Amino acid sequence: MSALEKNIWVVAEHVEGVVQPVTYEVVAFAEKVATATGGRVSVVVVGHPARPTAEQIAEASGLDVIALDAEAASSGSVEILRRLLKGLALPHPPRFLFVPHTTMGWDLAPGLAVDLGASSLSSVCGFEGDPEPLFRRRILNGKFLQEVRPADNRSVVVTVAPGTEDPYVSKTNRPGSVHMHEAEEPVSSTKVLGHVDPPESSVNLREAEVIIAAGRGVGDEENLGCIEELAGLFRRGAVGASRPLCDAGVLPLACQVGMTGQTVSPKLYIACGVSGALQHTMGMQNSDMVIAINTDPNATFCREAHYSVVADLHEFIPLLIEKIRGLRGEPSE
Ligand SMILES: Cc1cc2nc3c(=O)[nH]c(=O)nc-3n(C[C@H](O)[C@H](O)[C@H](O)COP(=O)(O)OP(=O)(O)OC[C@H]3O[C@@H](n4cnc5c(N)ncnc54)[C@H](O)[C@@H]3O)c2cc1C
Repeated sequence: MSALEKNIWVVAEHVEGVVQPVTYEVVAFAEKVATATGGRVSVVVVGHPARPTAEQIAEASGLDVIALDAEAASSGSVEILRRLLKGLALPHPPRFLFVPHTTMGWDLAPGLAVDLGASSLSSVCGFEGDPEPLFRRRILNGKFLQEVRPADNRSVVVTVAPGTEDPYVSKTNRPGSVHMHEAEEPVSSTKVLGHVDPPESSVNLREAEVIIAAGRGVGDEENLGCIEELAGLFRRGAVGASRPLCDAGVLPLACQVGMTGQTVSPKLYIACGVSGALQHTMGMQNSDMVIAINTDPNATFCREAHYSVVADLHEFIPLLIEKIRGLRGEPSE
């Protein structure tokens, strides 16, 4: 394999030029693979205009950035993104092409792998070995880990699970170089007509350091007060939820944690009246510390959390709030 083929690309995820934090997590993963395989990481930005986003990443990471400017990319169509990346990669395909395991990445990776004659690996959460890595990926809703060694004679498109690594921190105070490319406008079989903004929400679970997650055990909307109050005690606290609560409209969909919700990795995750179904824990298993509050000592969360409190949350949480306020010398509300 030539030195060029050892190259590693990370496809940056951005929304109208705003780089999504998960991009830097994937960069951190790619850097580790590069150290093991002797490859070199470049970040690829596709957009319009692509340069400001590329410069932002080059500044923050110190890594080289390949920027592909194409007006069509501003549509946000993943098909267009795939076609543009194909044109960029085909002349000199990189050995590994890492993308975040997000809705963008799910859409992009399999088709891009077909376009490049590459292998495709999804939901990768680790690797070991060098020079050829053995990737670990989650299968069967995260119940098992599978180890996969990709064929060494072709590129591999890999989606990396959010939370696999901490965001990459530049090892230099010099920005990386930006290599600009322009592309022909690709032909697309689909046309994006517009975007519908999600309902206004102040929830930003991925940025939260403490998440108080409400499960079915919380009951209805009237009982949310203590959950919100507890979350409000922490400077970067937020309310999360299990799916039944979001399905019932008790909390907005933006609060949902899990397989079909958000993937989070806070310092502290307090699961209140959440049983710990796999589809939920898939979204929060990278939390530093987990506390479960549940009436059922046999609930999965009670067995798997770092600490579990077997109690009725409606009785326990007000006491916890009072205790925290007392320790801080704050008056009770
Ligand atoms: C394809 C698919 C995708 C899914 N995606 C997701 C997802 O992204 N996120 C998600 O969360 N789920 C998801 N689910 C649903 C998931 O399988 C579970 O059904 C769901 O997580 C259960 O939510 P829960 O723990 O709140 O409710 P339950 O399982 O009903 O648990 C409620 C818990 O509350 C406890 N409890 C009751 N009263 C109290 C009280 N007063 N005090 C303390 N504890 C109390 C009970 O002991 C119980 O353990 C998905 C399911 C499928 C099939």
